[in-house]
Parts: sequence; C-alpha cells; structure tokens
Amino acid sequence: MGETLLKVEDMKIYYPVAGAGFGKKEYVKAVDGVSFEVQKGEVFGIVGESGCGKSTLGRGICKLEQPTSGKVILDGEDITGYSNKQMRPIRKKVQMVFQDPYASLNPRMSVFDIIAEPLIVHKLYKDKADLEKKVLDLLKRVGLDDYHANRYPHEFSGGQRQRIGIARALAVEPQLIIADEPVSALDVSIQAQVLNLMNELKKDLNLTYIFVAHDLSVVEYISDRLGVMYLGNFVEVGDKSKIYKNPMHPYTQALLSAVPVPDPTAKRERILLEGSIPSAHKPPTGCKFHTRCPKCMECCKTQAPERYEVDDGHYVYCHLYDDKIKKQKEG
Ligand code: SF4
Repeated sequence: MGETLLKVEDMKIYYPVAGAGFGKKEYVKAVDGVSFEVQKGEVFGIVGESGCGKSTLGRGICKLEQPTSGKVILDGEDITGYSNKQMRPIRKKVQMVFQDPYASLNPRMSVFDIIAEPLIVHKLYKDKADLEKKVLDLLKRVGLDDYHANRYPHEFSGGQRQRIGIARALAVEPQLIIADEPVSALDVSIQAQVLNLMNELKKDLNLTYIFVAHDLSVVEYISDRLGVMYLGNFVEVGDKSKIYKNPMHPYTQALLSAVPVPDPTAKRERILLEGSIPSAHKPPTGCKFHTRCPKCMECCKTQAPERYEVDDGHYVYCHLYDDKIKKQKEG
C-alpha cells in the first residue's frame, strides 16, 4: 500500500428539487455516501453509466460542486469546509481536465494566454521571458509546437484541444488530476493517443489521476484500481485486474459482459439488464440496483447491502456476499 494522497469519506451531494410540495424537502441524491482512498502515483478509475453520479463526484472532490456532507482530505489536509479563498492554493494541487475540450477553452483567448493564465493567477513565473519559456515547454510536453501558441482553440482538432486542456492543467504542477471523460468526445484512434500521452505524463511527472469514464475499455487501459458506480454509490471497488478478471457485483458483471473481448474464440455470455438507470430523485429502496438485478432476492428490496471484502482490497456492496444470506440460500 502506498502513501494516501486523497481520502473521501461518506461524501454526499444532494440537490434540492424545486416544487416538491409545501413543507416537503426532496432531493436528487447525485452522490449518496461515497468513501474511497487514492494512493500517490496511482490511477483510480470511476466507471458507470451516464447519470450515475461519477462526474458530480469528481467535481465534488475539487469543490467545483459543494458536497452536502462528508469529508475530503487531500495530502493530510481536510479541505471539506474551505472557502473559495482557502481553496486557491489547493487548486494548484488538484486540477481538472474536462470532457469537452472545446467548451472548456475560452475561444477568445490564444493558446498562449490559455496556458499562461494559471501561471499568472498563481504567480508561478519570474518575468515575461520565464512565462514564455514555461508556456512553450508545456506545449512541447503535450506534443504541440511553439507556433501553436499564437493560434485559437477553433483552429485545432479535438485531440489537439484536449492536449491544450492537459497543458493548462499541468501548468501549476498539480499532484492530482481529475480527468472527467477526457477522451469520450474523441475518435477512437485519437483516444489512444491522448491516453498514451496521459500515461507518459503520469510517469514523467509523478502524477496521480482520478479517471472518470463510462467506457470500460478506456478505464481498463489506464487505471490501476477502480470503483464501479451505480446511482450515487460504489457497488464494487478494487484492483483493475481483479475486477476485470473476476467481477463480483451483478452490475459489474453485466457491464463487463457487454465489453468486446479481443479473442474471437473466447465466449462470454452477455447479461442484459432490463430498464434504464432509475432516477436519483426517487431511487429504489434497499439495494438501489434491485429493480434491474438478475439475482435479486427478497431482502434486496428493503435492505441496503453492506460492504464485503471478497479478496484483498476487493470490495463488493451486495447481499450475495453476506455469510448469513449465503448460508440461508445454501440451506
Ligand atoms: Fe442484486 Fe441483491 Fe446484490 Fe443488489 S444486493 S446487487 S439486488 S443480489
């Protein structure tokens, strides 16, 4: 086990629902009590269908969304209640890379100004010449050239724009990068280039990533460990190799059954889930997955499952791994 960089404890992010009725408070529970740790130098993947709360969780960690409750501890510092002013030095440690590189880059700013901005805000340069050198070095790091500095975002392809977004994130020399679906808007061939770049940067700069994605192949490629999310909660957390080889939660099993395997002779039975992900406003009682779970038992409808460690560091939230219920089923 390495050194912990980030600890998230029981994070909840709820949004009040407008017009819920007189005197009644109702909430959309986007993130509903999530706990996990990320070690220095690792890539922690967060995967799940759209609407499961994974992006909100990522934004909650760097306080682009204010958590309703829970704790965020970064490098030993509890940043949960920090104001915007207190967060300023923290933003140097944690940076985000967003899904849509075009929307996240100001179209009126040149690439030079986009990358220089965080260096200026955090006063990370000595003089003009130093600022210019730093911006050009960053461009080079992400595989772009000096002459790109004077161009504008619309003059670049999607992959190049994502490189600019990555250069901007790297400018403040962060420890942790939260990448929210960073390649999902790109063509498959370009996805591989950006993922390779992120891998190289991680090694060269000793970075830690939280990598949020809906695409299981992408998460498998880049992650060391991962958490599978469903309707605001993790359902399975563990080493990538363990989860991909031996998924234990029925939801993970269904998700992985849909991923094509490279070996055409290998047979994998496709598990089809019925219905779509329920609303986080009125989630199902008990295990939130029970309305779609092919292995649902009576107890699943009323009791939320606890966390069970099925292997070293491999956790599953499912009654199937409760010894008492297992014995009842066997008996
Ligand atoms: Fe399925 Fe029950 Fe396990 Fe939930 S707790 S995943 S409903 S078996």
